[in-house]
Amino acid sequence: MPYVSSKPITHPSPRSPLVFDTRTLGRQPGSARSETRIVPAPADLQVALACVPAGADVKLTVLLEAVSEGVLVTAEAAAPVAGECARCLEPVASSVDVAFRELYEPDDARFAEVGDDSDRHFLSGDLLDLEPAFRDAVVLALPLAPLCRADCPGLCAECGVRLADAGPGHDHESAPDQRWARLRQLDVGTERQNGASAGEGQEG
Ligand SMILES: [Zn+2]
Ligand SMILES: [Zn+2]
Repeated sequence: MPYVSSKPITHPSPRSPLVFDTRTLGRQPGSARSETRIVPAPADLQVALACVPAGADVKLTVLLEAVSEGVLVTAEAAAPVAGECARCLEPVASSVDVAFRELYEPDDARFAEVGDDSDRHFLSGDLLDLEPAFRDAVVLALPLAPLCRADCPGLCAECGVRLADAGPGHDHESAPDQRWARLRQLDVGTERQNGASAGEGQEG
């Protein structure tokens, strides 16, 4: 039975900003080339409360090295992050820095049986598509619970106001709903009437 790679064979576009042409690198182990690009962020770099906005400028620096097994890529990327505070839902702007290293094997190595190949990357001819590895690294680095500030007090459980805006004095015990306050005063009045001052103010 022929070995079938679990990875679909894709043909990256040489025009994609995350595709690198390794032809000029040569195949001689030891040859290397480094490059810095500003690339537009691909879509769908996101987790529940944070994302890298599609098209945002991402600074990408790569070092491509020819090794006997293929091309070794050492990459660093810096991307802006737009998120929502996990406690108070205010917009949060931050950034993420990632560094990753991946080996890209030649196309024909795809057909060599090595068991699970889910973590392997392959060249497509001379083209190296960095997007899947870039995507994995960035999504892993996105904050799962971004905070507008480390000590964000969140939202008031009673009224939903943002406590950082409401200030430390925000408290529902000392400022109850006025309608209930009036009812409580009535209760107190009734007790007084039934107690020491009973008889006062009664009709008759
Ligand atoms: Zn917050
Ligand atoms: Zn409140």
